[in-house]
Amino acid sequence: MNIVFLNGNYMPIQEAKISPLDRGFLFGDGIYEVIPVYSDITVALMYHINRMNDGFKAIGLKVNWSENQWEALCKKLIEKNGGGTLGIYLQVSRGADTNRAHGFPSNVEPTMFAMTFAIPIPKTPNLETAKSFALKSIEDLRWKRCQIKSTALLGNVLHFQESHDAGAQEALLYNNKQQLTEASAANVFVIKNGVIATPLISNQILPGITRRLVIDIVANYGTSAVEERIVTMKEVNDADEIWITSSTKGLMPVTQLDDKPVGSGKVGQVWLEVATLYFKYKLSY
Ligand code: PLP
Repeated sequence: MNIVFLNGNYMPIQEAKISPLDRGFLFGDGIYEVIPVYSDITVALMYHINRMNDGFKAIGLKVNWSENQWEALCKKLIEKNGGGTLGIYLQVSRGADTNRAHGFPSNVEPTMFAMTFAIPIPKTPNLETAKSFALKSIEDLRWKRCQIKSTALLGNVLHFQESHDAGAQEALLYNNKQQLTEASAANVFVIKNGVIATPLISNQILPGITRRLVIDIVANYGTSAVEERIVTMKEVNDADEIWITSSTKGLMPVTQLDDKPVGSGKVGQVWLEVATLYFKYKLSY
């Protein structure tokens, strides 16, 4: 596999074997992954590798890297970029073809683009100082393969921008049955009377790694299990708390939906409990 590195002067970009005919650019024909790193250590790396492999399988991309190869690549990126807190971005495309055609090219090797970027340094969760989000609900008009972490993100981009144009910071998406799917770049949890629920894994959402970690942490250390099930928009609109999760954002409270307060309009107590558990989990890694 051809590898293009960016940052840390690891390999100057102009030396990289990448062509403007790379299918990743032309067709969005690729899989990407974002892996958070805290204190020089990747969080839940195996979950991320497994999700990438599921993506490769789903789009028929032959990448047979071992866990050790992925681990070594991440280690190298962390070292060359000063370590600490950062996000690793990996993008694997079907490769650079000389022909612009829709079919899978033969005899073309995948291209990987690898870089790091800044992510927020985790802070002890606090009800007074927590950053909270305002969301806008929008009908989910993306495709029917949202479980694939595809580099073709136009549907997500348009929903995200629509929410920003309306003065919100993220989109809360629902399907044509008025059921919650996810946000444009995060998963969503809804809390009522202390019960935490989140949409089931399906082709309508990305199986988020932070979502998985939060479910596991609540099951292991919390007082009740997260319900993975259909969540209706009626429940969303009636929720005491709403949270969004992603590898870069972590677990964030939502205090406004469609210009109305969520529950009391303040960051909630259940968020504080679970965010504290998640914070400790990240530090213990
Ligand atoms: N859903 C979508 C559409 C996303 O783009 C993301 C992250 O980028 C997530 C969910 C959260 O996934 P993860 O927790 O693995 O970052």
